Amino acid sequence: MAVRNPFSSRATLKVGKQSYTYFALPALEKAGMGNLSRLPYSIRVLLEQALRNHDEYVVATKDVQNIAGWSKATAGQVEIPFLPGRVVLQDFTGVPCVVDLAAMRAAMKRLGGDARKINPLVPCDLVIDHSVQVDAFASRTAEQDNLKLEFERNQERYEFLKWGQQSLTNFRVVPPGMGIVHQVNLEYLASGVLTKKDGKETVAYPDTVVGTDSHTTMINGLGVLGWGVGGIEAEAVMLGQPTYMLLPEVVGMELVGKLPEGATATDLVLTVTQLLRKHGVVNKFVEFFGSGVGAMSLADRATIANMAPEYGATMGFFPVDAETCRFLAKSGRSAAQVALVEAYCKAQGLFWTPDAPVPEFSSTLRLDLSTIVPSLAGPKRPQDRVPLAAMQQDFRQGLSKDLLSRGFALPADQLANTATVADGSNARIGHGAVTIAAITSCTNTSNPSVMLGAGLLAKKAAARGLARKPWVKTSLAPGSRVVTDYLTKAGLLPALEAVGFHVVGYGCTTCIGNSGPLPAPVSQAIKDGNLVAAAVLSGNRNFEGRVNPDVKANYLASPPLVVAYALAGTVDIDLQKDPIGVDKDGKPVYLREIWPSQQEIADAIASSMSPEAFLAQYGKVDLGPAPWRKIKATKSDLFRFQRQSTYIQEPPFFTTMGKQAGTIGAIAGARALAVLGDSVTTDHISPAGNIKASSPAGRYLIENGVQAADFNQYGARRGNDRVMTRGTFANVRLRNLLAKQEGGFTTHLPTGEELAIYDASMRYQQAGTALCVLAGKEYGTGSSRDWAAKGTFLLGVKFVLAESYERIHRSNLVGMGVLPLEYLPGQTRESLGLSGHEEFAVAIDDGVQPRQQLTVTATDPATGASKTFEAQCRIDTPVEVDYYRNGGILQTVLRKLLAPAKAAPAAKKAAAKQAATKKPIAKKPIAKKPVAKKAPAKAAAKKPVAKNATKPMAKKPGKAKAKKPAKPAAKSKPNGKLAGKVAVAKKPAKAAAKPAGKGKAGGRSR
Ligand code: SF4
Repeated sequence: MAVRNPFSSRATLKVGKQSYTYFALPALEKAGMGNLSRLPYSIRVLLEQALRNHDEYVVATKDVQNIAGWSKATAGQVEIPFLPGRVVLQDFTGVPCVVDLAAMRAAMKRLGGDARKINPLVPCDLVIDHSVQVDAFASRTAEQDNLKLEFERNQERYEFLKWGQQSLTNFRVVPPGMGIVHQVNLEYLASGVLTKKDGKETVAYPDTVVGTDSHTTMINGLGVLGWGVGGIEAEAVMLGQPTYMLLPEVVGMELVGKLPEGATATDLVLTVTQLLRKHGVVNKFVEFFGSGVGAMSLADRATIANMAPEYGATMGFFPVDAETCRFLAKSGRSAAQVALVEAYCKAQGLFWTPDAPVPEFSSTLRLDLSTIVPSLAGPKRPQDRVPLAAMQQDFRQGLSKDLLSRGFALPADQLANTATVADGSNARIGHGAVTIAAITSCTNTSNPSVMLGAGLLAKKAAARGLARKPWVKTSLAPGSRVVTDYLTKAGLLPALEAVGFHVVGYGCTTCIGNSGPLPAPVSQAIKDGNLVAAAVLSGNRNFEGRVNPDVKANYLASPPLVVAYALAGTVDIDLQKDPIGVDKDGKPVYLREIWPSQQEIADAIASSMSPEAFLAQYGKVDLGPAPWRKIKATKSDLFRFQRQSTYIQEPPFFTTMGKQAGTIGAIAGARALAVLGDSVTTDHISPAGNIKASSPAGRYLIENGVQAADFNQYGARRGNDRVMTRGTFANVRLRNLLAKQEGGFTTHLPTGEELAIYDASMRYQQAGTALCVLAGKEYGTGSSRDWAAKGTFLLGVKFVLAESYERIHRSNLVGMGVLPLEYLPGQTRESLGLSGHEEFAVAIDDGVQPRQQLTVTATDPATGASKTFEAQCRIDTPVEVDYYRNGGILQTVLRKLLAPAKAAPAAKKAAAKQAATKKPIAKKPIAKKPVAKKAPAKAAAKKPVAKNATKPMAKKPGKAKAKKPAKPAAKSKPNGKLAGKVAVAKKPAKAAAKPAGKGKAGGRSR
């Protein structure tokens, strides 16, 4: 085979005695692609991967040109392929990925292919960190007690993952009890520059990654380009497929100055989050530059990079520089590896220095670090920063504010409520009582300055005789064992224990909602007093219902502030003025007296951290704790799914699929399963937390012999579609406007009965009725959660109509074959006068184009009156059209692997054609431009449409396709014609939009 040398870029780099092949970016300048040093560093990394993978099939010359030609004008206009170097998974999202791989292996066998073809093709690491729950706390045995319970609850899942470890190639598992995925990635898995063999040569290339956790972004603090994708998309990458994205806008954020005394990296990131949210960075890259970056520790950079999902960006990038190399060396990476990173990045123009020319950005903003003040964020969203000085006032005002203003809507006569904690202490607590104080989350536990800061504060507090208040559930969950090592060496672990912060485990704990139940007397007191109890956690998410079902006000704060609030026992306090407690001598103790100085923190870091600690801890990371080592490993091509398992089941995604894709058809007669407001999170759609015994999922588990005490969390049951489908939209805080009660309920139409959403869905599906969801802005915000899309699909939802989407959730919906539609600018459910009681039809057919406008008809079944309006199809790329046509991304991949010779998909051809004609993909709604669109009636009359989710695909798609005219139907309207107004027709449009045959569901066949 000829040696690949795209654009004559193949070059050799000598580092020490080792020679590496690399694909030199400067060659592109010689090839006439302009001055690459004007590009943001993150775009240069995207360019390198395109250059290296250039093959005129997956990556075309036009793709390389498009990235090299990045500018303010072209950003967001063209689609590019991205082939990341590796994939990281955590267990909540990783288990379903491996379940899908096992199910794909089974499907491959059923369809006559080779099951062993289904393997990760790029290195894949799964870190088991999301399952540990804080049951035991404030005791020396807490870690062991929680670990024991974790293994009891997750035995089946862990056995399954051991199967994956043994049977899949290119797949490593970091066992439970070792650390949090992003911290392990930062400290151990990431290498800065990856290498792989190409014949006799070793090719070096930038470390890039996608992960199934939204905070995968943390690794950008190390100059590793990466972000979270849906589990479904990650599976496709694992299987060697590119992920497609629009060439992003890049916002440059200049940091200058340095943090003042008393401010922490957490305060900084909460400020950055607020600023970037305000600036608007959704779907954009953020790249940091300026003198403040040069002086910033890598840990602080990682903290800022971590919270990219909170500020809404795809990722926040810190290019490789001298500090990156220092961190790699200090964290135990070999001298040869560090030398490679430095030499490679310098050769490629990827090495940043403070005096380097500032690249061109889409827009810029500036932050002076010296203006940062101690802050919290909450009580319901991470972007709502509250300066510490304003905390008491802000909390008090929130008590009576209405729910839409993110308040708690307490009536005036309840503002002074208190209740007694009947635990022997008989303490009286009121609104704002801190019931959870958790040092948690990789955002902060990866940062020695705030962890040692918390320890130093605890030491000073303990010396004055302070401890946690008895109603506070305290926990310390380090993100890796290195943290415990340096806290111990600094002599600060005993101090943290003295004030109640014992290690409870190594994992996400409270950050993912695994805070465990509050002690019963505390929980009872909250109920007795109808109290707005508080949590203070060093996490990055505080959406309602995420942290703990008993706790309504959730504040994000630095680890030292977490300790401070545990000592105070309430957020209804001005910590800058009021004493935090009283010492042994009866003297008031003020926060300023026990707050550690920057010098004290720096000294503690210098005395307690060393590369040897990283090498020692990570040298044995594969072994895991004793219960992991005891699990018997099995190895087989196919996983033997057990019927009686309540954790791992074969999902029905592939059970009825055929070898060929079907065709896309109209949707008609759809009923709304839910009508939702703004900022509905993936946690509302697919909760990760507790399973209520009375919920459909709880009833299913009880019917299958599981006691309520052993339910575990939804997050841990993601390997079982039966539980997860029942749990979809089951969040106790969901507000479905179709139901009177809060939680996972809806009104079944037309009967008017209020039912659990799952039960209503089953009734609809039995009747062959398609379903839809109407939503507001930022639908699917929050953690990337593939079950939010999978569960939506399995509930029979054919389309979602929202004002806007969170990036990953939109892509996941398409990945599951659910159609995302968006109201046109200026239109909303309210402005269109939709109640959710209508029957909906969507005129979509096999000629659908990315971001095309589609006609939606809403008919009032009682009067027959109908409204038609245009909505934007949020299938954004030609490749996504192909995914949708195939019934999902995994079906697309499976069919490709089944018949590689016929693999040139229609979508890729369309993409190539699009590139060749230099026509950018429309970013905004396509206005005044006719797009080939068939009249719904015509489409319906000619095409068989899948009746429901489980109906097998159409058998002769080729024939159906051949019949479809390529030109617009004579009666079709140019897109955009109806934008901004609603057409009201008296006669129902049902007949026009309804597909032929019995099926109402439509959408696409699988
Ligand atoms: S600690 Fe929190 S942010 Fe980090 S991986 Fe776990 S859940 Fe995600």
